[in-house]
This record gives sequence, structure tokens and C-alpha cells, in this order.
Amino acid sequence: MRVAVTGTPGTGKTTATELVETDLEVVHLNDVIREEELDEGTDEERNSLFADFDAIRDWLAEREAESENGLLIDSHLAHHFDADRVVVLRCHPEQLEKRLVERGETEAKAEENAESEALDVILSEAVAEHGTESAYEIDTTDRTPENVSTDIEAVIRGERAPSAGTVDYLDYL
Ligand code: ADP
Ligand code: MG
Repeated sequence: MRVAVTGTPGTGKTTATELVETDLEVVHLNDVIREEELDEGTDEERNSLFADFDAIRDWLAEREAESENGLLIDSHLAHHFDADRVVVLRCHPEQLEKRLVERGETEAKAEENAESEALDVILSEAVAEHGTESAYEIDTTDRTPENVSTDIEAVIRGERAPSAGTVDYLDYL
């Protein structure tokens, strides 16, 4: 069993998955990419790494084989890999921008991500790659990380119905 938790940076993936109680092994993929050097060099413009998708795929397969019950994968890239269920965290762009600035990101990066969130970029990618029957959209706006983690637990247990397109943040644009 593999559950991906994706979403625009700032939607709260890492915070929420740290709180999830589950038998799945929680993988904070962005840390793994850095620590295991699963990259193809540095994107100087974005001050981030170019992910090596083949190397990540292999690493995840190995880790899953070693795990007892499977993986819960936290990353804005998680939907680009095989998964049984794909959780897409959402956040109203104004709140997302505030969260990112408070986390220490530049105003430019916060704004870029807020726009991307308003345009449903990651949700669209997740649905295109996995279909609506595997997508579980969770709106985190005005909700606590504990609350969000409870919803993720419901997805893992198979107690939540798939959903996509349940939010509309176009007022931000
Ligand atoms: P991601 O992993 O999706 O990029 P983080 O978990 O790093 O997001 O959260 C981004 C910032 O927003 C952090 O500073 C975090 O403390 C804060 N945050 C996360 N979840 C919430 C939430 N539900 N409500 C308010 N702030 C949150
Ligand atoms: Mg994160």
C-alpha cells in the first residue's frame, strides 16, 4: 500500500504527515532527495535540486519492499510516482502565501506558489496521472494540522471517498 501526500509547497504536507498515526512508513521525500543525493544537480534560479525521477523510483521501490505495510510519501513530487491513493492538500492562496513568508521563503517564491495553488496545478497533475478515483482533496484553509492529519488517517483506512475540484480559489487571481 502506497499513499502519496502532495500539494503546493506551504499546504502543510510535512507538518500534517508528521502527526499522522499509521502503520505505513512515513517518507519525507524532499529530505531523502537531499540526503541520498537523488538529484541531477542544483537549480540555481530556484535554489533547489533537480529531482532524479528514476533514482527516486528505485529508492521508493526498495524502501517499500523493506517496509512491513507500505509507504506514506510526503512531497510536492509524490504524485509523480506510483500510488494507490493520492492525497492533495489545498490551501487558500492568501493563507498559503502568509504561511510561506512566515516559513522564511522569499515574497517572490510565496507569490509564485500562491498563483500555482489558485490555478489547481498540482491537483490537475495528480488527477491526470492517477484519475479522479484515486484522488483525495483536503482543504487545509483555517484548519489545524491535527485536523488535517485526522483526514489523512481516514484516507489511509479507506474511510474517505475520493474527491477533486472541491475548492475554488480563483478569487485570488
Ligand atoms: P509543506 O510541507 O506542504 O511545504 P509545511 O508543513 O512545511 O508545508 O507548512 C508550511 C508552513 O505552514 C509551516 O511554517 C507550518 O508551520 C505552517 N502550517 C502547516 N500546516 C498549517 C495549518 N494547518 N495551519 C496553519 N499553518 C500551517
Ligand atoms: Mg514539506
